[in-house]
Amino acid sequence: MIIVMKPSAKPADIQQVIARVEQFGLKVHISEGEAHTVIGVVGDTQSLDQRNFEVLDGVERTVRISQPFKVASREFREGDTVIDVNGVKIGGRGIVIMAGPCSVESRSQILEAAHIVKEAGAHILRGGAYKPRTSPYSFQGLGEEGLKLLAEAREATGLPIITEVMGASEVPLVCEYADILQIGARNMQNYRLLQAVGKVQKPVFLKRGMSSTIQDLLMSAEYILSGGNYNVILCERGIRTFETYTRNTFDINAIPALKQLSHLPVIGDPSHGTGKWDLIAPIAKACLAAGADGLMIEVHPRPEEAWSDGAQSLKPSRFERLMSELRALAEFLGRPMS
Ligand code: PEP
Ligand code: MN
Repeated sequence: MIIVMKPSAKPADIQQVIARVEQFGLKVHISEGEAHTVIGVVGDTQSLDQRNFEVLDGVERTVRISQPFKVASREFREGDTVIDVNGVKIGGRGIVIMAGPCSVESRSQILEAAHIVKEAGAHILRGGAYKPRTSPYSFQGLGEEGLKLLAEAREATGLPIITEVMGASEVPLVCEYADILQIGARNMQNYRLLQAVGKVQKPVFLKRGMSSTIQDLLMSAEYILSGGNYNVILCERGIRTFETYTRNTFDINAIPALKQLSHLPVIGDPSHGTGKWDLIAPIAKACLAAGADGLMIEVHPRPEEAWSDGAQSLKPSRFERLMSELRALAEFLGRPMS
């Protein structure tokens, strides 16, 4: 449920509503709009009588949210959520590009990659230090050493960094280094992990599980939001279908559907969505045309030497070319890239 305050509501009226909500053991989420303050009531509001609030001073109306995901829904918040990561605004007018290698492999590799993506115009550096690999015999990531190298790459380029956190117990450590916490597709329904990142204030990049519906993704986002962390970014990264020519089937529908259903930023990942470097550019452009707020793209200085996901990583010259094409497209769409 949301409680819309009158434009004339005083701070004391707002405080009174908050106190009333808290008496029912529920939490509030306040959004200050241009004319109205909107108080979101977070928790189980099924048995709550709206009249408890409608009689209070300064209250204009109350609205029940019909979707099972409450805080994540567009009904909860009409305007787009914009998440500021060290000055990079995700979900605002401009398109945001996150790029870098699948895995952090060495100091020289991540520094080289960071400079390449920065020079091509990317806004955020990606790189995995903890890798959720299908095989236990595959490279599992450099762990904390990888986080330190990412922090060094941020220092060198000024780019904020995004990296995956695989377990609830690792959240405090990854928070010390990362600017955005990535939850991978395989962990989208790891509810303990979702609860753990709900308790911190770092932005969370939530990737769609490979067999998860759009609603499943939004319910997972709800776990994080209901915990008190409102900085959630959704990512479509392809789903499993009967098609095997591509690694996954990129669900382009998910982009406008998520933008309709939710106020959260939506990013497309054409690298994992296709698994093939030569399909990245067309799907990246399709993402922007479909309304994505940005892209996550795997880029490696020498993809043929990559320790993971080389086949779906762009080499520097191709990334540079794609960035200039994306810049023109973003301009055309009225969402210029800074
Ligand atoms: C990744 O971003 O490298 C990754 C492992 O992605 P996903 O969780 O989408 O497979
Ligand atoms: Mn990868």
